[in-house]
Amino acid sequence: MPGGHRDILIAGAGATGLTAALELVRRGHRPRIIDSDEGPVPMVESRALGINARTLTLLSPSRVSDVVLQDAYRIDRFRARSGGKLLFELDPGRVTGQFPAIQMLAQGQTERLLLSKLSDYEVVPEWQTVLERVENAGGKPHVVLRRPDGSAEELTPDILIGADGAHSAVRKGAGLGFPGQALEESFYIADFRYPAPIDPHYVEIDLFNPGMIGRLPVSSDTVRYLSTLSDFEKRIRHPVAGGQAVWVSNFRIHFRHVERMSSGNIFLAGDAAHIHSPAGARGMNLGIEDACWLAYLISEGREQEYSGLRLPAVETVLKQTYGLTSLVTMRNPVVTGLRNALMPIAVRIPFVADRLLRGIAGYDTPPPPWIDGAK
Ligand SMILES: Cc1cc2nc3c(=O)[nH]c(=O)nc-3n(C[C@H](O)[C@H](O)[C@H](O)COP(=O)(O)OP(=O)(O)OC[C@H]3O[C@@H](n4cnc5c(N)ncnc54)[C@H](O)[C@@H]3O)c2cc1C
Repeated sequence: MPGGHRDILIAGAGATGLTAALELVRRGHRPRIIDSDEGPVPMVESRALGINARTLTLLSPSRVSDVVLQDAYRIDRFRARSGGKLLFELDPGRVTGQFPAIQMLAQGQTERLLLSKLSDYEVVPEWQTVLERVENAGGKPHVVLRRPDGSAEELTPDILIGADGAHSAVRKGAGLGFPGQALEESFYIADFRYPAPIDPHYVEIDLFNPGMIGRLPVSSDTVRYLSTLSDFEKRIRHPVAGGQAVWVSNFRIHFRHVERMSSGNIFLAGDAAHIHSPAGARGMNLGIEDACWLAYLISEGREQEYSGLRLPAVETVLKQTYGLTSLVTMRNPVVTGLRNALMPIAVRIPFVADRLLRGIAGYDTPPPPWIDGAK
């Protein structure tokens, strides 16, 4: 049954769930969206920073891309250094099209922009509402929710979208595994706020032997440092004196994805379906892309095609991020020496540079057929 008359429950109001709700509501559906948390990601936890051109294309029919473009910081240069020496620079402006290849905006801000647009349609997430149990019987999902007052609610929506993150209760309830691997390395994050403006328009990576420190702008006074080195803070080259760490975190990187992104009328999107390293800034972008495809297919009554259409895109992105992560986490000094010698030569080859930048722009997955002229 295409159209807007089906009960749709979205579990999870992160970037993926909010995008699914927005794309459904603007097509005439009335989805219900719940989240166990109290609200969006706190502004101080910058988390996913990169918003790529493909995401801006996908968010253009809802006009969220207009507000992202106002608030985000466009990246004009990627630089790689080793031992302080410049290895190469890449210009993302080589990627032509309506939108810049990549912009930076803290995840909490992206979520707030999505929430604001959703509220224009009078859809508001039900916060502090936990999806406790899912059963997948008789073609319809059966769901138990726990409301903020502690009471339980049982329902059988026509469609359940699991956008409930890496530990997805929906995925577990649907009986879908999450095969893959965890890297040995831990990654460390520190966001530093400075008392004077910094240049927010470039991304830099400093390669050590072994290890790396990435530098990404969060805003005009805050920089994210991301490293494989536990003592990285003492190696940071601060742009101005007096910076204070405002958010620190560390995590291990997993490369995992479900073998099917749906089971009956239960559909998985975002981190619930795939997780990988932040190299290439694809995580949140891929979740937003899933959400847009799923909403389009639901509206067309073609949602059973979702898993088959999305899995190749997920596999492409996991392969790309695995390759980039391997490049920056290698330990053997001979191999890292070779890497440092060959990378500047490789990125001078237009085909290599363009391929790398196409991935960063998110243009290596199929374009959305519902947006005219989308790349
Ligand atoms: C510390 C940290 C740093 C990161 N840095 C980067 C980065 O630099 N670049 C990058 O691309 N990505 C990064 N990520 C990953 C990025 O944040 C995710 O890829 C992105 O948030 C995925 O969005 P999502 O909506 O699919 O899942 P999530 O953002 O995880 O949202 C899932 C939502 O579901 C809710 N939920 C969970 N379980 C339930 C339940 N049972 N019932 C109801 N609601 C539930 C949660 O409260 C949450 O709001 C980082 C993540 C973390 C934690």
